[in-house]
Amino acid sequence: MTASRVMVSGARPTGRLHLGNYHGAIRHWVALQAEHRCFFFVADWHALTTDYASPGAIGENTLEMVLDWLACGLDPARCAIFQQSAIKEHAELYLLLSMLVPVPWLERNPTYKEQQTQLDGRDLSTVGFLSYPVLQAADILMYKATAVPVGIDQAPHVEITREIARRFNGFFGDVFPEPATLLAESPKILGTDGRKMSKSYDNAVYLTDPPAEIDRKLSRMVTDTRRQRRSDPGEPADCPAYQSFHRLYCTPEELRWQEQGCRTAGIGCLECKKVMIPHVVAELAPIRERRARLTPDDARRVLAEGNAAARRVAVETMAEVRRAVGLA
Ligand code: SF4
Repeated sequence: MTASRVMVSGARPTGRLHLGNYHGAIRHWVALQAEHRCFFFVADWHALTTDYASPGAIGENTLEMVLDWLACGLDPARCAIFQQSAIKEHAELYLLLSMLVPVPWLERNPTYKEQQTQLDGRDLSTVGFLSYPVLQAADILMYKATAVPVGIDQAPHVEITREIARRFNGFFGDVFPEPATLLAESPKILGTDGRKMSKSYDNAVYLTDPPAEIDRKLSRMVTDTRRQRRSDPGEPADCPAYQSFHRLYCTPEELRWQEQGCRTAGIGCLECKKVMIPHVVAELAPIRERRARLTPDDARRVLAEGNAAARRVAVETMAEVRRAVGLA
């Protein structure tokens, strides 16, 4: 792989991917692999930071997610697709970095307190959860990433990684580049209930949903609440379906017709959505077809190859890190 930049990004093994995952990350990864040296990993250790008490589905979710990645167009010939827990060097680098990361850096991480409140019923006052940004830094720095493609909510994590790289280099010499944040321009994809699209909210449209299922879900998606009756005018700017899907998928002519029809109550919401839904179905058709041809063995083979490629780099980096720290 010849490339101008090294990109590293990962995702927790959540199983089947939905449209929010696709537009938020995977679509960008597919574009990046054409021009850069890319490492994409299944963050299975990260899944344990919040799901340590019920890790049952991690293995199966890993395979499902990798199959969806492949169906979306990630190409193992152009990027390394690997499993975090298969590269033990990540744990060693995490340990060494944790020696020099001040605890207040982790306590001020915005996600730390936010998730403790959001993920009710789980005890997240653990060392692993507090220090997951250190593990993320190890994941990124291991491959000497020059950029990390992320959504806006993940940007603070890259900033902590940069601070950790600076601190390490300050003590031990220039080992790690400071990775830039590569903010992906992503449309905000809401779920069918108007909240953020998420598997845990049961409001997602999955990449592998058959056309009838996509139709059923999107036909019921919430719209502008002012449109209680067919004769009530609405406002597309206040319509979750319009903001997430119509704007993304419909043609300018269709959008004009929808906006005008909505504001004058000239069309009903279902009529409006029936123009958008075939576009979503058409975009997902090739993904679903590729996915149907893949088997779990394909995911295992791709991961085995990706693990080997990632390990080659990780072994080299750790040899350099140990020398720098004085452990060689
Ligand atoms: S008519 Fe279309 S844009 Fe207006 S509220 Fe209904 S679905 Fe949304």
